Amino acid sequence: MVPLSARVAEDPVTKLADDPRAARGLAWIDKNAAWVTDQQIRLTEIPAPEFAEARRGAALKELFAASGLQIRVDRIGNVIGERAGSDAKSVILISAHLDTVFPPDTDVHVKRTGARIYAPGISDNGAGLAALVGLARALSESRVRTEKTIVLAGDVGEEGEGNLRGIRALVDAYGSRLTAIIALDGPSADHITTQAIASQRWEVTVTGPGGHSWSDFGVPNPITAISRGIVGFSSVSLPDDPRSTYNFGVLEGGTSVNSIPSRAVLKVDLRSEDERELARLEKSLRDAMQSGMNDELSATQSARDTLQISFRSLGTRPAGKLPDDSPLLATIRNVDRFLGNRSRLERSSTDANIPLSLGIPAVAIGGGGKGGGSHTLDEWYDPTGRELGLKRLFFTVVALATPER
Ligand SMILES: [Zn+2]
Repeated sequence: MVPLSARVAEDPVTKLADDPRAARGLAWIDKNAAWVTDQQIRLTEIPAPEFAEARRGAALKELFAASGLQIRVDRIGNVIGERAGSDAKSVILISAHLDTVFPPDTDVHVKRTGARIYAPGISDNGAGLAALVGLARALSESRVRTEKTIVLAGDVGEEGEGNLRGIRALVDAYGSRLTAIIALDGPSADHITTQAIASQRWEVTVTGPGGHSWSDFGVPNPITAISRGIVGFSSVSLPDDPRSTYNFGVLEGGTSVNSIPSRAVLKVDLRSEDERELARLEKSLRDAMQSGMNDELSATQSARDTLQISFRSLGTRPAGKLPDDSPLLATIRNVDRFLGNRSRLERSSTDANIPLSLGIPAVAIGGGGKGGGSHTLDEWYDPTGRELGLKRLFFTVVALATPER
């Protein structure tokens, strides 16, 4: 055990330890972790693909109402529950995204194997939503009144082509009243995401005349052109620092095995810790795709046929970083020290990108428990240790919101 320094002993987190209101919240968490898991399963089993989060949002709204929050649903489907503080001008926002990466026809029913619960979306973001619901109830049971207003939100459009539209709208709505934002994303209590990775998503479309596989042989082929572009871009070297990545995530085109396709579409995700490096990557992608198309044209026999290429942005996420001396970070670290929880700083692309890019203090953390297989059909969650994640969240939020004397 590391002895607590005098400074730590005076911090608001340690003071909370002796507060009966905090004790009531913690006692509720200890007794009700299984209930929180039940809510996680219920929410996960309601499909919530991007742009179709309303049904899951309605279920969350009911859970918020049962915890005494003042609820509203905004124009785009963010489910917002407010817990008014004495100072309406200072707001702490805790968000968890409602949407998943899975298409509407995905089977999202859970299967249990031992302690593990399997279902697409069970961790990302079933774990975050469950923590949000648990937090709402623990705050209610604690009967703590705070100076700052606490806003809980299940937000839309975090994944893929949603392009963070939910958190953008929330940040717009609360504006300068926001003093801190915590995005709950996924399971675990072992990290604090303080750095936002910049990303760009692109759709590249190549079209051509198409034709019969035998009689029109020699006509330039959009699938081949895109494939040449993929190979070309894959040979571009990426820096380790700033870390940068790319992914060719979707490739579609063609109608039948014996038709030369008239169209092929590629979706690409580019990420970097540095926006200038990301801009360089974008240029390399455009160049590689353009030369892939030119190579296809010069390799084919037909002089009159041609191909067209177009690029469409599917979304941009800005970069940002929470300063190392941020009071928000200090509070979470004090909570971790108090709970004996070890955590590391992380870089990721989450709802926190938007506030961080605007200089609003923000982090992303997990909701507790363990999980894996995110964005795959084998995604799983294990609620072991959920209480730690919930207590960490509860203490952090109460300390940030300043309990009234
Ligand atoms: Zn997520």
